Amino acid sequence: MEAQLELESILLPGVDSKRPLVIAGPCSAETEEQVMNTARELAASGIKIFRAGIWKPRTRPGSFEGVGSVGLPWLQRVKRETGMYTAVEVATAQHVYEAIKYGIDMVWVGARTTANPFAVQEVADALRGTDMPVLVKNPVNPDLELWIGALERLNRAGIKKLGVIHRGFSVYQKIKYRNDPQWQIAIELHRRIPNLPIINDPSHISGDSNLILEVSQQAMDLNFDGLIVESHECPAQAWSDAKQQVTPAHLKMILSDLVIREAMIGDKPRTELDELRQKIDLLDKQVVEVMAKRMSISEQIAKYKFENGVTVLQSRRYDEILQSRRKVAEENNLNPDFVVKLYEAIHEESVNRQTLVMQKLQKEKK
Ligand code: PEP
Ligand code: MN
Repeated sequence: MEAQLELESILLPGVDSKRPLVIAGPCSAETEEQVMNTARELAASGIKIFRAGIWKPRTRPGSFEGVGSVGLPWLQRVKRETGMYTAVEVATAQHVYEAIKYGIDMVWVGARTTANPFAVQEVADALRGTDMPVLVKNPVNPDLELWIGALERLNRAGIKKLGVIHRGFSVYQKIKYRNDPQWQIAIELHRRIPNLPIINDPSHISGDSNLILEVSQQAMDLNFDGLIVESHECPAQAWSDAKQQVTPAHLKMILSDLVIREAMIGDKPRTELDELRQKIDLLDKQVVEVMAKRMSISEQIAKYKFENGVTVLQSRRYDEILQSRRKVAEENNLNPDFVVKLYEAIHEESVNRQTLVMQKLQKEKK
């Protein structure tokens, strides 16, 4: 089903339309002093929109769940004293009413909330009649329809100033980042709703203050419109997400290190072909990453074989692999001969790797 959204710009008066649009501030408002100190520094380096979590959806109970409404007057003070706009996360109708009461300029729907249509509907109904810009984070699970569904619910409630935040997707296995970016989902969203602004959240994707620049750069290279970055006056002492927050000075450095490339090639706008190629590039990257994981398991197998006095090559197992991969190819509408050829190459490399590991272990034993 094609999404038909009636959209208006989310840009607030006085905020530059130049990429990237930056929203920054602490994961959570903790104390008035922490909020004010962080805000003053951010404002001094030119940040125009200040974020702070007031109500925090935490994975496990017992962690800091946000200061709640007592933090809202602190944000009013940020606005009054620094001139920055303010943005908070809302997850219930009550949050929306409180945010409106305290003059919050922009709200976002968190990843856990986007995954729950009842909650999104409640937030949408509470926002009805306002012209608040609303940013919708991707749901925690990689479901594009659910993400678009949340946008539609808000749009049907009359919210036209819509944008999205790409914050990556939960995964069970350990990966380099806290959340798997799955960039192709954001790219597909852009293909389906081209005039919807997309903001990247390198903080929740990477989970690591040292990786904010690399993720932000990738987002800029994929032509994202903006960045939402967690920044705290003293990240080590943050009450939530301490590992991923950067100081305002660090954020300033990251922003000045970013290379902003034009979305145009010469004077030609990007074509659908460019977008398709970008998708291929991302998929190829995943193919190579999966291959690396496969090879590292091969090496663990080599170690096992060495310890148990088994040969590297097990022809029966090789036959089984070719047979079963042939079947998977057929199930996926791929030419089985092509997949077998691919597996011959993979198997050859895997045998080489195992042989090397065995030789190394043998040498160490002597
Ligand atoms: C946040 O931005 O502070 C937050 C809770 O993020 P997410 O919903 O992406 O987990
Ligand atoms: Mn956070």
